[in-house]
Amino acid sequence: MLDLKKFEIWFVTGSQDLYGEETLKQVAAHSEEIAGSLNHASQIPVRVVFKPTVKSTEEIYRICQEANVAENCIGIITWMHTFSPAKMWINGLKILQKPLLHLHTQFNRDIPWATMNMDFMNLNQSAHGDREFGFIVSRMRIERKVVVGHWKDEGVLDQINEWSRAAAGWNDWQGAKFVRFGDNMRYVAVTDGDKVEAELKFGFSVNTYGIGDLVAVINQVSDGEIDKLTAEYVERYAVMASLLKGGDQHSSLREAAKIEIGMRHFLVDGGFKGFSDTFEDLHGMAQLPGIAAQRLMNDGYGFAGEGDWKTAALVRAMKVMGSGLKGGNAFMEDYTYHFDPANPMVLGSHMLEVCESIADGKPSCEVHPLGIGGKADPVRLVFNVAGGPAINASIVDMGNRFRMLVNEVEAVAPEHDLPNLPVARVLWKPYPDLKTGCAAWILAGGAHHTGYSQNLTSEHMQDFAEMAGIEFVKIGKETNLYQLKNELRWSEVAYK
Ligand code: MN
Repeated sequence: MLDLKKFEIWFVTGSQDLYGEETLKQVAAHSEEIAGSLNHASQIPVRVVFKPTVKSTEEIYRICQEANVAENCIGIITWMHTFSPAKMWINGLKILQKPLLHLHTQFNRDIPWATMNMDFMNLNQSAHGDREFGFIVSRMRIERKVVVGHWKDEGVLDQINEWSRAAAGWNDWQGAKFVRFGDNMRYVAVTDGDKVEAELKFGFSVNTYGIGDLVAVINQVSDGEIDKLTAEYVERYAVMASLLKGGDQHSSLREAAKIEIGMRHFLVDGGFKGFSDTFEDLHGMAQLPGIAAQRLMNDGYGFAGEGDWKTAALVRAMKVMGSGLKGGNAFMEDYTYHFDPANPMVLGSHMLEVCESIADGKPSCEVHPLGIGGKADPVRLVFNVAGGPAINASIVDMGNRFRMLVNEVEAVAPEHDLPNLPVARVLWKPYPDLKTGCAAWILAGGAHHTGYSQNLTSEHMQDFAEMAGIEFVKIGKETNLYQLKNELRWSEVAYK
């Protein structure tokens, strides 16, 4: 979706002048080699940029200041090769606005038993140098990720990968604009929330446009543009016969294409990264946008239905985080349960708008009536979703804080056809099991709308929540309700 290689993570090594020039030369050479190796690691999707060793309060302040204003810098990795007295870091850390990862590593993997002397010990003392740094970051109550291990270790690279993807999503939110066509679905609670607080906390803004503003753009769409897009539909999807040229519902396909083109113009012209609409406010539109929302999501736009701006923004961030990975990210809703004790499952779907990026195989393009909204039959893509590990993520507004909730699930390939359910759908089993997972979700106040991901894990989402400084609650294999209830109760105090 996005090429994450345009983003930089700065590799900053801390030391001091105490050791003399020769030692500092070695520190610099080692740091450059580590930064270069991380930069070339296939697991890490962003560029890792070596920065000269910082050795004083002034140098540290300057590098933090530069990181703050460098547009492509989405975070910094710090490492204390030797020992960097941490009071030197206070002024810099006080102003640092980019995400921080503390890499607790050392240049050598093994202790060189036969040759080790005091010079070696003096040079390679991250084991305690990093603790001095860790203290001041904790003392200053700054959120950061701590990664421990040798810099060539696969697990270390995986953790840096996850964090840098979270940082890319976080960076994308800063200054992002989301548009809400119409207001929130009437009387619905969880999809609403404090947009002012969200902008303070998350950096993105959400503003409403009347549906008439969008309809005006849709009505400008030319027949030529519609011809081109309907041809693309026919090439890309298994389009049902009645929608094809000469079919008695071909005008519905053209109408759907017109809506997609108009929405795309509106989003591009306004510099929006995502949108929400609601079936209760479609004045002047012939259909509820189905295929339009599905395809715009596939192109990287965040989306959620019924005015749910929080989930729209979350879906966008998840798409940025998952850029370049196999699998997709989609707007999702827990729809219906299969309560068979031998095989309990959740069927996830939405009225229409599940993102094409998670489709297993070629979607079919169909038109069917929609029971609500009172508009013409909307065109939509229908598909199944493959099995495999996945997550559902949700951000809710608890009044005094935002909470991110993640449930790890195992998607299962469908064993039955659903000939009378003409929408995209997914089947999954929540961890630790359906009863506990769903009870935990409800106790934590998780929304019915989620961002569903095939390529992100709860680690990505936790890193992201920590960058945002919000509460993170994970429901996974180890969840038990007794502990979870306590966690929620204790968090209530922590966020007072
Ligand atoms: Mn919904």
